[in-house]
Amino acid sequence: MGHVVVVGAGCFGAWTAYRLALSGHTVTLLDAYGPGNSRASSGGETRVIRMGYGAQEIYTRWSWRSLELWKALSERAGEALFHETGVLWMAHEQDELTASTLATLERVGVPHERLSRGQLESRWPQIDSAAAGPESFETITWAIHEPLSGVLMARRAVNAVVREAVREGARYADAVVKPPAGTGGLTGGTNAQWRSHRAPCSIHFRTVAICSSVSVTPACGGGMRLARLAAEMRAKRRLFAGSPGTTIW
Ligand SMILES: Cc1cc2nc3c(=O)[nH]c(=O)nc-3n(C[C@H](O)[C@H](O)[C@H](O)COP(=O)(O)OP(=O)(O)OC[C@H]3O[C@@H](n4cnc5c(N)ncnc54)[C@H](O)[C@@H]3O)c2cc1C
Repeated sequence: MGHVVVVGAGCFGAWTAYRLALSGHTVTLLDAYGPGNSRASSGGETRVIRMGYGAQEIYTRWSWRSLELWKALSERAGEALFHETGVLWMAHEQDELTASTLATLERVGVPHERLSRGQLESRWPQIDSAAAGPESFETITWAIHEPLSGVLMARRAVNAVVREAVREGARYADAVVKPPAGTGGLTGGTNAQWRSHRAPCSIHFRTVAICSSVSVTPACGGGMRLARLAAEMRAKRRLFAGSPGTTIW
């Protein structure tokens, strides 16, 4: 199996590296600021895991599958990474999104309850029918309750995935991958082997998976340039990396 370099250790990169390691690939996972860092979309304390995505059934199915994987990871890691708080969708009388969510949940077989206004008020008394004003719930007439959905401890969960990937043989390093500057082909490559995550280095690889997210990549040179890097690297089979802030090109 070939050597795969995964750029970005957010939720997507961490799972990509983990699954590749499980399937026997040699994997190097790199992140400019660390797994689930505070600049990344996957940083912060929590994320909601819910199954309701309106009529977009593919997201419901993915989310349902991902919940199973997160729970299994949580158990393997011995950490409470997911909290089954339940998720409540409150709806107005004519609420197309919630109505299509209900239809999707029924079709896919995701456990849920359809609640009337009266049931809502008796189970969550803070939904007070007497209250009025823009912050009130007075226009809510029904709801969907997803009892098995809840909260994922985002930063800790992403770190746990990276730890499991490393346990399965992947290598993780703090390193920023620099897109090439200027025009034309890549020059200045070396055949140096991996030395240390502190020093500039190059890694020979077969495939690169860019999981660096548009939210952070522009600060590191732009998504287009990183995509160009991937294309050029496919030809050169070499990826250049260094510690955060190190400019290789
Ligand atoms: C405020 C907010 C709330 C959200 N709420 C929810 C929610 O409740 N439920 C839900 O399911 N989703 C939610 N999302 C969406 C979800 O968090 C993101 O879809 C997901 O975290 C994206 O993960 P990612 O791995 O693609 O990107 P990131 O987590 O951004 O990971 C990209 C990584 O790449 C690294 N990187 C970038 N460029 C380079 C480079 N050149 N070299 C090396 N490393 C690099 C970064 O340091 C970063 O760690 C939310 C997002 C935000 C921002």
